[in-house]
Amino acid sequence: MGVPARHHTRSRVDKRRSHAALKPLSLIKCSHCGEMIPSHKICPFCGYYKDKEVIDVFKGLNKKEKKQKQKEIEEEK
Ligand SMILES: [Zn+2]
Repeated sequence: MGVPARHHTRSRVDKRRSHAALKPLSLIKCSHCGEMIPSHKICPFCGYYKDKEVIDVFKGLNKKEKKQKQKEIEEEK
């Protein structure tokens, strides 16, 4: 395994890490339901991406949860 040949100064390490900070998520409004979602991601609230339904958000929910979710989506419109 390679071993560093020279000591890296605190300054040099900190300069490299000046680019390592996390940037805030860029949120956009979903074109279908209007929720704020990360860009270039399928909307987790309605399952749409680019005005097309891609995933079924009701899958795996029981009857009661389904009804509640449907109500939430209706209210958003
Ligand atoms: Zn949506």
